[in-house]
Amino acid sequence: MNIEERLQEEILDGRLSPGLKINISSLKKEYQVSLAPLREALSRLASKGLLDFEQNKGFKVPEVSEQELRDLYEINAHLEALALEQAMDRGGAGWEEEIVASLFQLGKAESRTPQPDYDEWRAADTRFHHALIAPCSPILIDFRKQAHLKTARYVRIAFGNAISEMPKYSQEHKELADAVLKRDKNKAQKILKEHFQKGCELVLQKYKGL
Ligand SMILES: [Zn+2]
Repeated sequence: MNIEERLQEEILDGRLSPGLKINISSLKKEYQVSLAPLREALSRLASKGLLDFEQNKGFKVPEVSEQELRDLYEINAHLEALALEQAMDRGGAGWEEEIVASLFQLGKAESRTPQPDYDEWRAADTRFHHALIAPCSPILIDFRKQAHLKTARYVRIAFGNAISEMPKYSQEHKELADAVLKRDKNKAQKILKEHFQKGCELVLQKYKGL
């Protein structure tokens, strides 16, 4: 991992905690990097929305708030519903095959005993949701990436590796794939919105308990 990827991971999992002011000289020491690449990495993270930058004050890890999380989920749900609609209009045989394959993989990750491996499950869930919307406009894919990254920080700080506390979404994922493959737009968008709403409430509950 390069310096940007390492810092990104630390921000996403909360090791660099919300509200923390970035101390450049201590990061330099800790990561054994020189100033130029470190500054460049910090600027790139700021452009992804994972750091705040203020002239004369420097970089800060953004605070987390209930309002921002609700906004993110609302925006994600709308973007995803639009992406899904475009995908259902544009997708062909390759798209359908990848949905079936990624759903199978996700089912496997969800049913591991005694409990799923969080990283495996997360990667499979990401692959599945990406497969559903893959043929949509690349502009949407880009917007979605930004919003997802910001949301991922909330989810990872809230859950850490506590996969056992995550509810089982297997049935919902199956129904979603089914509706999408049948090109049933209303049903697919309804399931998707509920899926997002549940996710949002779950993460909020977790935050209130932290
Ligand atoms: Zn999901």
